[in-house]
Amino acid sequence: MSIRILPDHLVNQIAAGEVVERPVSAVKELVENSLDAGALHITVSVEQGGKNLVRVIDDGAGIPAGDLVLALQRHATSKIGSLEDLEQVATMGFRGEALPSIASVARLDLASRHASEPHGWAVKVRQGLISEPEPHAIQAGTRVEVADLFYNTPARRKFLRAERTEFTHIDGILRRFALARFDVSWVLEHNGRTVMRHEPADTRSRQEKRLAGVFGEEFLPHAITVEEAQGGLSLRGWVAEPRYNRAQSDRQFFFVNERAVRDRVIAHAVRKAFADVLYHGRHPAFALYLELPPAAVDVNVHPQKQEVRFRDAHMVHDFLFSALHRALASVGAGAGMVRPGMPLTGTVPVERYGAGSSGQSRAQVNLGLPVSEQIAAYQKVLGAAAHQSPSGPAPDAADIPPLGFALAQLHGVYILSQNAAGLVLTDMHAAHERITYERLKSRAAAENIRSQRLLVPLNVQLSGGEADLAEQWRGQLAACGLVYDRSGPESVLLREMPALLAQADGARLLRDVLSDLAQHGDSSRVDAESHEILSSMACHGSVRANRQLSIAEMNALLRDMEQTERSGQCNHGRPTWVQLDLSTLDRLFLRGR
Ligand code: ADP
Ligand code: MG
Repeated sequence: MSIRILPDHLVNQIAAGEVVERPVSAVKELVENSLDAGALHITVSVEQGGKNLVRVIDDGAGIPAGDLVLALQRHATSKIGSLEDLEQVATMGFRGEALPSIASVARLDLASRHASEPHGWAVKVRQGLISEPEPHAIQAGTRVEVADLFYNTPARRKFLRAERTEFTHIDGILRRFALARFDVSWVLEHNGRTVMRHEPADTRSRQEKRLAGVFGEEFLPHAITVEEAQGGLSLRGWVAEPRYNRAQSDRQFFFVNERAVRDRVIAHAVRKAFADVLYHGRHPAFALYLELPPAAVDVNVHPQKQEVRFRDAHMVHDFLFSALHRALASVGAGAGMVRPGMPLTGTVPVERYGAGSSGQSRAQVNLGLPVSEQIAAYQKVLGAAAHQSPSGPAPDAADIPPLGFALAQLHGVYILSQNAAGLVLTDMHAAHERITYERLKSRAAAENIRSQRLLVPLNVQLSGGEADLAEQWRGQLAACGLVYDRSGPESVLLREMPALLAQADGARLLRDVLSDLAQHGDSSRVDAESHEILSSMACHGSVRANRQLSIAEMNALLRDMEQTERSGQCNHGRPTWVQLDLSTLDRLFLRGR
């Protein structure tokens, strides 16, 4: 074949291969055009999952009669005119290829009325040919209809899925749009039925109502609001408390300058911010809005513009990470956390904790009495509060600490305490583990994890593999307070332990930490590694279940939780406590009915 210039229609069909993958792609392009035209009311109607029809009606600026044919041509756009414009682009579209691409693989009807004109005009595109504009009765704004997608490209039509599947994609993208633009009112119709309707949400409470419509009612009561700005960047939105995590990443919405995007820099910053508080394999839920100057982000890197590139990826990453990290740190047991009406349980994968790797290694551990330095310190700081007994005079509600006063211990596992709202149940191991971990971390950050020299160095028997691993991790473990030397092919001599865990059984602690490292240790990031080690030490060195605590010790633990960041979950993302408020208890007993 000799080289030739391809006809326009074919060029458009080739471009359509990138831009129009399935019905939802047409919905996305048309809605973005409506948004770019300043529309505040957008109605999307589809039939048969969009395979037969996609119609978008808006009340935007409209297209002047003289531009109607131009709008359907390749590389024709009203949004940019120069490279400088491209670098500053603030509109959703700018490539001028959506309408011609869609028109090349479907039957497209376009009708529009510009505000300055007495009536509207309509054109049709069939097989790449644009009809003469004709007068048309239409309100100010634009209507685009895309019928029989891929009717002329049967190979592609075959790839379309069932009506339901295609519609699910469309429903999903409309949810994204609805969250991206609270100021716009949205209607989605499928086969003549209205399936989604959102009024404009101009107040915080209306926004939250819309949010609940997308996320479900249970999201908001457990959402933390984020609002941070720094050096031209701003982040706002909502993040669910880590204990309301999900098995899928299906409740994650991230917008950059109102555009929904997937981005590795963002994903990494989010994952890192949650690393400490989320159980491995679970996913956080959030709707987050990042705003930055258009020139700081390149949106022209993906044909469907689902990805972006930040000019300063490091800065964006660090900003996101620290903003989220701070927001999550506030999820403690301190004031304001005790919320009446909180459900009894979160969506926590309890089944994952019973068995499995860490379950096994925990079961072997039975650290005698790890009354670590905290407990000694507790005794000193216990004020009058600690001596409050349940039978004593009822304390003033204002004096009751958030997690209340301890009443008793249940099965050596849970602490029962009474606070202003009712009953609090605390998992003492999970709570202690979090407290220990946060302390180790803050000391590590200050580079003074104090270690304590053992009076008699302890010879720890290991397997050959463990001993090799110990040797390999020697530097990092020493930085975390575990200091030893190799003493034989299958042993090491333990010389120092972290002072915070001085009461723990050193040999066991070392073996447990090594076994965690063998399973999860990846040597990619020093920071993550040291946190992993600290987390593992905190877990294995904390108060175990089945240890009797005195009322004073329990109160001390509760007061410590109130002071500790992120104390709402243990290091694995399990909740550390739940509130059973009086109204819940009343309901259990059908009281007041
Ligand atoms: P792009 O959005 O990249 O400019 P499109 O092919 O999607 O390219 O649209 C071409 C042009 O048609 C737009 O630049 C705009 O001027 C006009 N247009 C398309 N849809 C609308 C609409 N709903 N309202 C007003 N103008 C529109
Ligand atoms: Mg467009």
